[in-house]
Amino acid sequence: MNLDIMAFGAHPDDVEIGLGGTVIKHTANGYKCGIVDLTAGETGTNGTAKIRREEALRAAEIMGVEVRECLGLPDARLQVNEENLRAVIEIIRRYRPKVVVGSYHLDRHPDHLRASQLVREAAYLSGLWKYPAEDEAHRPSVVAQYFLGHVGEPTFVVDISKHYERKMGALCAHESQFGLPGDTQWDTLVNHPAFMSGLQSRDQYMGSKIQAAYGEGIYVQEIQPLEDLTSLKGRRRRKTPREQNERREP
Ligand SMILES: [Zn+2]
Repeated sequence: MNLDIMAFGAHPDDVEIGLGGTVIKHTANGYKCGIVDLTAGETGTNGTAKIRREEALRAAEIMGVEVRECLGLPDARLQVNEENLRAVIEIIRRYRPKVVVGSYHLDRHPDHLRASQLVREAAYLSGLWKYPAEDEAHRPSVVAQYFLGHVGEPTFVVDISKHYERKMGALCAHESQFGLPGDTQWDTLVNHPAFMSGLQSRDQYMGSKIQAAYGEGIYVQEIQPLEDLTSLKGRRRRKTPREQNERREP
């Protein structure tokens, strides 16, 4: 299967947090999207690898993605080494995505940083014909990044307003992570109510940059070519008072 977009996360809920609305928007528009969780998130304070996989698959269904793979690399000990690069290269070669999205290259969490580097390096090496890995060489045309803990200046903002409820639904599927702490769950940073309200504020802030209710920032490190200046859509244009009047009159 050839995918249009393949999104990578170090942990099973990363893509939902930073790119969930964008993935949902693209699946709704008919694009084939896939998610690859590099680790099973087994070192997380709450949940187990098995529970988190079940939650990730429920979230995948809500987001409408074609596939959700878990590479099972070691959580909290993620390294950029030949063995892990090969695993990422082989998944890229198997699904041959046009666009690959990984986490931003700056973050407090070491796994997020290394996931970013792994994805960028693997996307390049995957295109080398003689690189010793399974399947035929394939290099995605774009490697983009989404924001997790550290938010940088985005290259683009995707309007996700119409898909926000589904983004929240996909996040809520990760009950072991975002469910309120109770008898069976420990208090963590992400199950404190401030986390979800902070994420919503951030999505609103990103949206405000393009006059949308909610948005997700995308960062692309390489300069993108542009053939046609008029293909830039710019911000939404307001109707002039005259146009608004015409609409009111029968
Ligand atoms: Zn994470």
